[in-house]
Formats: sequence, structure tokens, C-alpha cells
Amino acid sequence: MTVFEKAPAKLNLSLDILNKRQDGYHNVEMVMTTIDLYDRIELTSLEQDQVKVTLWSRYVPNDERNLAYQAAKAFKEKYKVKKGVHIKIDKNIPVSAGLGGGSADAAAVLRGLKKLWKIDISTAELATLGATISSDVPFCVYGRTAIAKGRGEIIEKLPSPPTCWVILAKPDIGVSTRTIFEQIKMEQLKHPNTNEVIQALYDQDFPKLCNHLGNALENVTMNMYPEVRWLKQKMMQNGIQGVLMSGSGPTIYGLVEQERKAKRIYNGMRGFCKEVFLVRSN
Ligand code: ATP
Repeated sequence: MTVFEKAPAKLNLSLDILNKRQDGYHNVEMVMTTIDLYDRIELTSLEQDQVKVTLWSRYVPNDERNLAYQAAKAFKEKYKVKKGVHIKIDKNIPVSAGLGGGSADAAAVLRGLKKLWKIDISTAELATLGATISSDVPFCVYGRTAIAKGRGEIIEKLPSPPTCWVILAKPDIGVSTRTIFEQIKMEQLKHPNTNEVIQALYDQDFPKLCNHLGNALENVTMNMYPEVRWLKQKMMQNGIQGVLMSGSGPTIYGLVEQERKAKRIYNGMRGFCKEVFLVRSN
């Protein structure tokens, strides 16, 4: 039997770092949503007790380092499944981009295995299992607009943003989330106004949402990689209402309501950046 799952990329509408914890992790507050840019995951049940990953990517391993592989292993162990699975990943989300591609794949594997092996568990339980793999997996298990707190494992649902176009531009560098977190100096962070972002979602107020997009990691990444700052400026010069770096970067996105304007900016950005996408918000 074979099951297909979409693994959509996430965008940070806000990202705040509250404090550093005793265990070395940071407490965060992140308002996130998903977009119509996704990896396709195909899961086929195997009689042999093994996890096999197939994907064509220069940047992502197909062994136990792959988060999709880790998700399948964790699922099998937790629910004592003796069968195996062949995971095929059709990768469209840029890697190490701040778009949570690895976590999206892992979450899609968890959702897919639940269907494939007909295991009766709640989404909350799947999200708890996901938290053992990586901090963004619980959000990706729910796969809809939410605020993530704690290390990312506490999820509260929020209304989706007003439907709009999303232009994404990724400079030709990969950014390691870990490296960026190691650079954080708490006293230098510029904190976003998370409550205003949340209120804008409840009010479905697009201009307000655009005005309050904020990411405490933006300056940290931009100080290390000036091309990210330059790309954000380039995007803003196009007259986009809301522009922000997602996650720890380096992807910069812009939100636009009108299709014609979005297409014009998308075409313009392609002259400056190799990887540019134009997608719908979910
Ligand atoms: P985050 O902000 O959660 O770190 P990201 O979008 O910046 O996410 P990813 O694309 O998820 O970064 O990948 C980061 C690292 O995870 C890379 O080193 C990559 O090799 C590894 N990785 C493991 N499994 C996957 C996967 N299925 N897809 C993408 N990357 C994966």
C-alpha cells in the first residue's frame, strides 16, 4: 500500500527569542503559517523491518541523518510496528533556507504512517512524538497557522492570514540554524510585537499584519551575511507591504495582495537572485 502526503514549507510571520534556558535551548515565540510550496512524500509499506529513503538532492542525505528517516524510526519504535517503509521525497523546498523543509518532511512522514499503518492516534500525540525529532516538527504536524512556544513544542492555533501572494527569494547560501543561535546576544535582539501580529490575524487586517511582521534573528543573520540585508532592501524597494526573513534565514519573503503586482515583483527579483518563488499563502 502507498500513501502520499504534502509537506508544505513554513513562514515565520514573527519570531521572538524570549530567553536562554538551563538546558541550552532558547524559549521562543513564533507565529507561523504554511505556504503552497511543498515537498511530496510517498510512503510504501514494506514487509521487511527497514526504513529506506530515496531522494535526489545534493544537500540532503538519505540515511539516518534525514529527518524523514528519523521520524519513521521514532514512529515504528513508539507504536511497535514491525513492518518497514520506503520513503520517497520529491524535494521542492530549498534546503537550509529558513523554510523548515526537513521538519515538514518529518511531519508528513508521521501523518502518512498513521494512515499507512492505520494507527489510531491524535494529532496532539503525533506532535509530541514530532518534538523528539526537531523543534519545528510539532508545528508542521498541525500544518496550519499557529503560534509555537517553549522550544517550539507548545502549539496554539490561530486564524490563517488573509489569502495573498508570497514572493520568496533565497540568496545562494545555506544558513545553519545552530550557527545563528550560537551568535545570539540576548541584550542586542530587536523583539517583534507578537501580540500585534496575532491581533492582525484575528482582524484579518492585511496592512496591519504587514506592518508588524518581525524576526528577532534578522539582524543576527544579516550581520553574518550582508547579502541577506541587501536582498531585503531590494525586495522593499519594489513597494511590497510586508517583507521579512523567515526563520534563521536566508530566505526573504514579501506578501502582496494583488496578483499583477506580485508577478511583476517576482519577475524583477529573478534578475537579482537565482532562487525565487511565487506561491499562494495557505
Ligand atoms: P530550520 O529553520 O528548521 O533549521 P531550514 O529550512 O533552515 O529549517 P532544512 O531545510 O530543514 O533547514 O535543513 C537543515 C538541515 O537539515 C540540512 O543540513 C539538511 O541536510 C538536514 N536535513 C535532514 N533531513 C532533511 C530533509 N528531509 N529535508 C531537508 N533537510 C534535511
